[in-house]
Amino acid sequence: MPKLLLASTNPGKVSEYQSVLGNIGYEMVTLSQQGITKVAVEQGDTFEQNARSKASTYAELSQLITLADDSGLEVDALGGEPGIHSARFAGKGATDADRIKTLLTRLDGVPWEKRTAHFTCVIAIVTPENQLELCYGECHGIIVFEAKGENGFGYDPVFYLPEIGKTMAELPTDIKNQISHRGQAARKAREILQRLYGCS
Ligand code: IMP
Repeated sequence: MPKLLLASTNPGKVSEYQSVLGNIGYEMVTLSQQGITKVAVEQGDTFEQNARSKASTYAELSQLITLADDSGLEVDALGGEPGIHSARFAGKGATDADRIKTLLTRLDGVPWEKRTAHFTCVIAIVTPENQLELCYGECHGIIVFEAKGENGFGYDPVFYLPEIGKTMAELPTDIKNQISHRGQAARKAREILQRLYGCS
């Protein structure tokens, strides 16, 4: 069975990938299981550049088929911020709660109808032979005034899905995966991985 390296140090992301990419004939391994401690620096100007550079770095290090992503939240009233800086929005060492607080403070006074936002996810798959595949996903919603829900990670408690009437953090993982930016991109990745190595 070929190994697939899930090149993320974010446990929330790793578990979402394990759930969507399960049962396709790959043994999924993590960076720590491979003894990889190097942190790939995100220096690109786009989600795509960051995903590509992370996947290439870890594929070269591991010599395994490697999946890396870059994702983030783009808020219309903030001109697309935090975007590629979503993880660093409240500075180094900040927690998810700190980032949510920063976001809600920046949106202070912005009315409901102007709080539109979307999550973006770009997945890059790089093989040891340096073949590159890219997959994209986007999920639209509204930033609520107060955090709600305990599931997921990151900005999920403030990301409201009007057609469901709940925040992303109020959804169980399997439902989040059906609609999320990462779930959409991961299902495309699943097809590519099945095609690449002829798994069932
Ligand atoms: P990165 O893709 O590891 O650079 O991190 C992206 C950041 O965007 C995360 O640390 C979260 O703050 C945010 N983010 C990305 N995807 C999600 C999601 O599915 N839910 C909530 N926040 C997310």
